[in-house]
Amino acid sequence: MRLRENPHGSRYGKTLTGAHFIGGKFKGENARDKFLSLNPSYLKDVVGEFPVGTEKDVEEACLVAREAFKKWRATPAPLRGEIVGKIGHLLREQKEMLSRLITREIGKPLRESRGEVQEAIDTCAFFQSEGRRLYGQTVPSELRNKELETYRRPLGVCGFITAGNFPFAVPSWKIIPAILCGNTVVWKPSEDAPAVAHSFINVLRAAGLPDGVVNMVQGTGPVTGAAVVAAIDKGLIQKISFTGSSQVGMKIGEVAGRNLQIPSLELGGKNPMIVMDDADVDAAVTGAVWAAYGTAGQRCTSLGNLILHKKIADKFVSKFVKKAQALVIGDPNLREDISFGPMISERFMKRYLEHHKLAKKVKGIKCLLEGQRITDKNAPQGFAGDAKNGLFVSPTIYDGVSIGDALAQTEVFGPTVNVIRISDFDEAIAAANGTKYGLSSAIYTNNPAIRLRFKNEISAGMSSINNSTTGAEAHLPFGGTGWSGNGTRESGVWVIDAYTRWHAVNIDDSGGLQLAQIETEEAAEGKAEDLSGLTALA
Ligand code: NAD
Repeated sequence: MRLRENPHGSRYGKTLTGAHFIGGKFKGENARDKFLSLNPSYLKDVVGEFPVGTEKDVEEACLVAREAFKKWRATPAPLRGEIVGKIGHLLREQKEMLSRLITREIGKPLRESRGEVQEAIDTCAFFQSEGRRLYGQTVPSELRNKELETYRRPLGVCGFITAGNFPFAVPSWKIIPAILCGNTVVWKPSEDAPAVAHSFINVLRAAGLPDGVVNMVQGTGPVTGAAVVAAIDKGLIQKISFTGSSQVGMKIGEVAGRNLQIPSLELGGKNPMIVMDDADVDAAVTGAVWAAYGTAGQRCTSLGNLILHKKIADKFVSKFVKKAQALVIGDPNLREDISFGPMISERFMKRYLEHHKLAKKVKGIKCLLEGQRITDKNAPQGFAGDAKNGLFVSPTIYDGVSIGDALAQTEVFGPTVNVIRISDFDEAIAAANGTKYGLSSAIYTNNPAIRLRFKNEISAGMSSINNSTTGAEAHLPFGGTGWSGNGTRESGVWVIDAYTRWHAVNIDDSGGLQLAQIETEEAAEGKAEDLSGLTALA
């Protein structure tokens, strides 16, 4: 690993000369086409310099992964599990260092970065033991002296493309179960978090993962990501798993579809939270503030539409605005008590600042807080950081929004919330289900009948009752419906279906040729005359 002094950002750490990782070797350090990873809290701090992977790099990685697949699939699953266990052990040992790197590269508060690494540790714990299961079934046969069995088989080379907002947890959700199931991997991490990806690869190496099982090609979406997608058409990839925007996910789904592959697509969200008139308002305000502004709203599960019963709406909004104004924004590398840090990248900040245009000239919409880029002149109270050199923004709240408004329909991926006022649960659920997305959702109520209706009627992959829209556990299915995903799931036993195919085997010990459906004795002995009246109909 090559590191060099970083004159402007030395207080944050050195600058990494990054590379691809193909067949157990770091490569491409001297590539012509490169991109930089900058610390979004302090843009003068260059976290690293990385090559933009070409189609040739991706092809090489796929071929290496194809070769490694032959041996890796034959490695007993419990031994694969042992390596996964070692990865988890090393992650635990390196948790603080890795968390600090996540905070430096994408600006997450440290406690959230630690949570991310913990999610990867938990994923390893779950899948280490899955190596001792990966159960198939024994199935009774219609025929005598015959046995039926099912096996889970790995798929081959898996192509992974991931987003930068969960640069550690989300890749672990894909890589760990995929390799446990016997697949090999070509991973294109986000250009927003290439140094975090590099550190993940270092942990896999240190754990003794054989060369070629996990390969990484650094780069940008339009060049390197597109090359990974093109590898599906070339027959180099048997499974694609993508986490990112719905727009890119839809294009990847088309390519997978024409190759008759089932992609895993984990996409965007415009997540609703309903607060009913019987709810504990203080608990709901706390949940909404965390859901809306945690990670500066840059989570797929961030709260987008806050659907308030009109009886509690005024009280709720006044508390919510006060709490939003009291959030501590700043550089999470400098202080641990930051509520939220910077936007991860310039493009997210630009999109956030531009989303105000969606509200302009729409009748009835009131801007209660208009989030802006934070500068030395407008820095909110308690701001801790270098505003001029960071991508910091303040929070937004719009009130009087209707579900049909562009503001309520568009994923912004920033710290902004729309208040939608409703009169009863029917209106609330219509609003909650009123976007094309369906990732996460929440309701605050103490009424068991409303709780039951919400569970049955909400159209989302994940729902919280009296809790925020965000949060995941390594053994619970994660994913969405509609524009949020194609129904595949990450985590727990459910993700195993994404990385294996079922193989049915029959073993005939009869010594002859027995034909199912045709030669079953029981079918031959049936009393057909009982149905003879039916022949008149045929
Ligand atoms: P994005 O789609 O622009 O990028 C995600 C990844 O795809 C990156 O690695 C990028 O390089 C790559 N990419 C971009 N264009 C590509 C192309 N044409 N071909 C192939 N690859 C390409 O997403 P983003 O804006 O960086 O990330 C934020 C989005 O991700 C939000 O919509 C958020 O909701 C979503 N997200 C979803 C989940 C989930 O689990 N559902 C988790 C995190 C983020």
